[in-house]
Order: sequence, then C-alpha cells, then structure tokens
Amino acid sequence: MTGLFGGTFDPPHNGHVALAETALDHFDLERLLVLVVVDPGHRSVELDFEQRFDLARLAFSGLPRVEVVPEEHAYTLDAVRGGRFGDAIFLVGADEFATFLSWKDPNGVLENVRLGVATRPGHARESLEPVLAQLERPDHVEFFEIPAVPVSARDLRGRLARGEAIDGLVPEAVAREIEARDLYR
Ligand code: ATP
Repeated sequence: MTGLFGGTFDPPHNGHVALAETALDHFDLERLLVLVVVDPGHRSVELDFEQRFDLARLAFSGLPRVEVVPEEHAYTLDAVRGGRFGDAIFLVGADEFATFLSWKDPNGVLENVRLGVATRPGHARESLEPVLAQLERPDHVEFFEIPAVPVSARDLRGRLARGEAIDGLVPEAVAREIEARDLYR
C-alpha cells in the first residue's frame, strides 16, 4: 500500500517526521509519497514552493521508501480522485481530521483513499468521534498513535521571526538550511 502525506510544510518539522516514520511501520507501507502542495489556494504560505520543497526533501531524507513530490492540486479530493495512487492511505494529523467535514467532499475523498489519522497534542480522540459519526465510510478511517511532538509550523515561523532558536524542533539539516538562507526573518 502507498502512503500519502500532504501538506504545505512551511516549514517541515519533527512532528511531520514522527508521523511519517510511524506510518511507514504501522501501515507497512511500500512507499510513502510526501505531497508538497504547490499553491494551497485556501491558505497563505510564507515560503515559495521551491523553498518548501527543498526543506521537505531535507526533512525526510533520513527515512526509507519516502519520495517527496510536488502536488499541483490544492484540494485532497482532486489529488486522489480516479484512484490515481491505487491502494492508498492518506495521512493526516488529528487537527486536520477535526476539520475534515469542511474539506471539499469528504465522503468523496474516502471513496478514493483510506484516511490514517495520527494523534496530535491538543486533539483528543473523543473530540473526533462526532466527525467520524457523520461520514458515509467511517470504516475507511483508521487512527494511529505517534510520539507526541508539540510543535507546529505556525509556531516555528513565529519563533524564527522573533529570532528565537528552533533547536530540537526540526531536523538538523532543515535548521541549517533555514539559517543559511535566512528564512522567516
Ligand atoms: P501550520 O502550523 O502552518 O498550520 P502544521 O504544523 O499543521 O502547519 P502542515 O504542513 O499544515 O503543518 O501539516 C501537514 C500535516 O501534518 C497535517 O495533516 C497535520 O495535521 C500534520 N501535522 C503537523 N504537525 C503535526 C504534529 N506535531 N503531530 C501530528 N501531526 C502533525
């Protein structure tokens, strides 16, 4: 089975890596495609696509069977429709699943792929049950536990803008590149 992990990765961080690493093992993935959304449309990004793509490649370079690829579609439904990735599981954090009903055609997404929902600090499993209850294919949703990494890209952008350290929150190669290119200042 193919794992799909989409995001803006503005910037990629240790929470993303923990999710990817755990999912590879938990779902016994043949490969994991990290989909870096070129133009998210519905949300703003600070770095342009090329910079986010380069950082994502560095962030996931230590993991086996992972390929970082550009994703032209802003909406998950458009990215996965038509069974484009075959037997696939789309991975999200619990915060994304909490807002899943507001996605473009959530039931359509679940017709094309399964959803793997990773734990994320601040989003308890109980709070996700009402979302699950409204889906036509709740059997296509699987929850899995990952090591808690209480970090977000938004938090990192704030820290960097204030000139604060980000040690231990992003992979070392990502920290070095952010520093070398003077990003998010
Ligand atoms: P932002 O703070 O800008 O919203 P983010 O840190 O949530 O960004 P995204 O690129 O938007 O990062 O997230 C891509 C995917 O990774 C989403 O499915 C999100 O739920 C998941 N994710 C991000 N951080 C974590 C984390 N610390 N633990 C678990 N999942 C996470």
